[in-house]
Amino acid sequence: MTDFAATKAMFDLPEGVIYLDGNSLGPLPRAAGNRVGEMMAKEWGQMLITGWNKAGWMALPTGLGDRIGRLIGAEPGTVVTGDTLSIKVYQAVASALELCPNRKVVLSDSGNFPSDLYMVDGLLRSLGPEYELRVVAPEDVASHITEDVAVLMLTEVDYRSGRLHDMKALTELAHANGTVTVWDLAHSAGAIPVDLSGCNADFAVGCTYKYLNGGPGAPAFIYVAPRLADRARPALSGWLGHEAPFAFDLDYRPGSGIERMRVGTPPILQMTALSAAMDIWDRAEMADVRAISIELTELFIARVEASCPELELASPRDPNQRGSQVSFRFAEGYAAMQALIARGVIGDFRAPDIMRFGFTPLYIDEQDVEGAVDILADIMGNRLWDAPEYKVRQRVT
Ligand SMILES: *Cc1c(COP(=O)(O)O)cnc(C)c1O
Repeated sequence: MTDFAATKAMFDLPEGVIYLDGNSLGPLPRAAGNRVGEMMAKEWGQMLITGWNKAGWMALPTGLGDRIGRLIGAEPGTVVTGDTLSIKVYQAVASALELCPNRKVVLSDSGNFPSDLYMVDGLLRSLGPEYELRVVAPEDVASHITEDVAVLMLTEVDYRSGRLHDMKALTELAHANGTVTVWDLAHSAGAIPVDLSGCNADFAVGCTYKYLNGGPGAPAFIYVAPRLADRARPALSGWLGHEAPFAFDLDYRPGSGIERMRVGTPPILQMTALSAAMDIWDRAEMADVRAISIELTELFIARVEASCPELELASPRDPNQRGSQVSFRFAEGYAAMQALIARGVIGDFRAPDIMRFGFTPLYIDEQDVEGAVDILADIMGNRLWDAPEYKVRQRVT
């Protein structure tokens, strides 16, 4: 069993704060500051450019990829980190489209995160007017997987409601129709057990600053199934995905396997912070994380429904149908969230009326849940949200 008291002690959480927003930005691992400081002083400072070889910087993207891979059921050597998630969505979909040259449709759902839809829309516009992004309601996805669909691009856990798609069933259905799948694991990696290999997934992407706690701007990751890795054209053909970057050939030849999905120079400072976060993940088993996450979300829902009748559950009630977050609808949800944050309970708000709370057993326990609900009940019962200072919209909600 994972020792969650030990993992909690490995995070530097401010006194008096109950942090229920690790689904947007994970907190600071205690070791990260020193690790990055040492890297800067000993590696960047002393080794200068020789750090790429001596300190192993060049191998960080795949090394971190393998450590993330363990959490998402990926075979060793199939995950690489780099770039941002939006970029990796573009790369995966562009690469997947080329595997189905006679089809022009990308299918997604209206619950997907807008950036994923924007990136694909931009890609398809570059490819030409015969390409189509087809967006259907999340519950209608299965019935729209037809033989004209080249790529099925879905985010497994809905960022607003936490609703979970059935990755295995939808991937099977896609394959039966000759469709290639791209799964976005932004709200899955580190939140729920994922079995990319067992689901026979084709491509997957995700970020490392949410549940994985890599810090703001931490790199994204991409997975390509071993059976496709030497066939998929990387689409973003940067020099570090080249077979021999330091041959400086004028012609692009993709590297072998997942290495070809690299694009440019990796962000070593961010990757160093991420490696401190992965040291904590190395002590965790996803099955334990899931079991405790379900206990925490069930407790939260029961307590909120008992004490805050104004809030309406916006997440699936069945824990097997949702990820590791719980959302409630409330017309004045923005103000209520601001009032909560002012009292040290940090969640976030997603337009038009969703109050979102993430539950991360690595550093959230039952006491935190009870403490958060007590404050929420006070704010709701006494209309403490109804104050002008809580209604001013900030740039990031
Ligand atoms: C968080 C998130 C993103 C953000 O993309 P970035 O390029 O990292 O800003 C994209 N897609 C999904 C599904 C997300 O949840």
